[in-house]
This record gives sequence, C-alpha cells and structure tokens, in this order.
Amino acid sequence: MGKVYLIGAGPGDPELLTLRAARLLGQADVVLHDSLVSPEVLARISPQAAVVDVGKRCGKKLLTQEEINSLLVSYAGAYEVVVRLKGGDPSIFGRAGEELAALRAAGIVWEVVPGVTAALGAAAAAGISLTDRRVASQVLFTTFSRGVGATAFDWGCVTPATTLVLYMPGQDYAEVAHRLGEAGLPLNMPCAIVSQACSATQQVRWTAVGALAAEERLPAPAILIVGRVASHEMCELGQQFWSGVRKEVSNENVTVI
Ligand code: SAH
Repeated sequence: MGKVYLIGAGPGDPELLTLRAARLLGQADVVLHDSLVSPEVLARISPQAAVVDVGKRCGKKLLTQEEINSLLVSYAGAYEVVVRLKGGDPSIFGRAGEELAALRAAGIVWEVVPGVTAALGAAAAAGISLTDRRVASQVLFTTFSRGVGATAFDWGCVTPATTLVLYMPGQDYAEVAHRLGEAGLPLNMPCAIVSQACSATQQVRWTAVGALAAEERLPAPAILIVGRVASHEMCELGQQFWSGVRKEVSNENVTVI
C-alpha cells in the first residue's frame, strides 16, 4: 500500500513550492494534477513518474470528482508515492475534504502538504497587507462560485474592517459588483484585481466596487481583493510603514495599470 500526498503547488512560481513539495515531486511514482498547476511546477516532477491531468480544460471537466477519488484509491494500491497536486493550497477551494474522505474510507495513509494559496500570492504581488492593522481586523476567503450542495453564503461577518478575497470571480464583473453591493459594501470600497499572480505575466488593477463593472477583464486565473487595504494609497502608505522589512523585495515584475 502506498501513501497519498495532497500537495499545494502554490500560485505558479516553482520557487514558491515548499521544500517538502519539491522533494516529493522528485520522488513521485504517479502525479494527478489540476490544470491550474503551472508548467514550471510540473517540470519538477520526477521523469520516472506517470503524470495524469485530471483538471478542467476550456470549462470541460476531464474527470469527475468521484473518478478522481477512485483513481487515488486504486493508485495507492499500485504505487508507493502517489501525489495529488493542486494549485495554491489543497484546503482552499481545492476539494481536499472530499478526497481525504475517500482515502479515509479506503483506509489509505495520506498527508497534506500545504501551499501558498492564491490570496497570499495575490497580496504579495500587489503589495497589499491583508490584515493591515490600521484598516482591517479580519480577512475572509470566499467565492460566489460554489457547486450544488454548497453551504449558503452568509454575509453576517462582513464589516468595514473586513478584507474580502474573492476566488473564481469569473468574467461577469457587473454581477460580482452587484453581489458585493448586496453585502453592504459601499461603491467607493477599494478593490484590486490580481491576474496570474506570481507569474511573469501578473497584472494588478486598482479599482473600486462601483467601477468594477466597467473594468477590462484580465486573463484567468484572477482574484479580487476587496476592502480598505486594497486602495493604491493604502498600499503605498503600507510600503512606507513596512519599508524596513520590505527593502530587499523587488516589484519589477508587477504591472500596475
Ligand atoms: N486551491 C487554490 C484555489 C483554487 S480555485 C488556491 O489555494 O489558490 C481557483 C481560483 O484561484 C481561480 O479562479 C483564481 O480566483 C484563484 N487563483 C489561482 N491561482 C491564481 C493566480 N496565480 N493568480 C490569481 N488568482 C489565482
């Protein structure tokens, strides 16, 4: 019986893999990965490993979640090191729960290796401090895009001091703006769209909830950071505030529009 590792691949840059993730990719016998995982990370997989793309392409699912679960279970019977590789962190909008349940039910040994989730990659790319103590007291990772059977959305905890990170915002920014308005966010609440964070093509656009509908759609994957921390001025203030710590950090890859 092999062991199944649920590994976070981070937001794209292979240097953001944990050392453990990089080591296990080099030792893997078989790797099942999502389409979000970057080619640079896939290049770290052992050349001896069988590599299976189980992700979505052009909106078309290659495999269902149930099929992925059964593959994991059957590979664990055939290989020693089975890697399930997911973009970002497996536990954030990554269906880790469903896969772990299947592994537990089959009595298979597993381990989760965390990764840098997109919210953190995007915050780093934009130079946003998600919990900047001057304007924010909490951060909420959320999405409007949940499948059937998902828990209903609850805005109860959103306050003016909440930083909201919206995964899978889709291309309909008008709908996103509408739903943020329903949550009680004012039109002038700052918002940053971060596209392809932590890659050579990353882009950051500074806007506000009221202006979101008119913004040009940036290439996927993209994520929204909404809240007072997401104002460009705040970000610059923050840069001064943290200048001692941030001195060595280079921003040359960030395109600010
Ligand atoms: N488990 C992943 C999230 C999967 S949901 C994680 O922890 O990051 C997929 C969504 O993540 C995308 O629609 C997008 O909103 C966000 N995302 C993933 N990678 C991204 C990146 N490099 N830049 C911006 N957003 C990203």
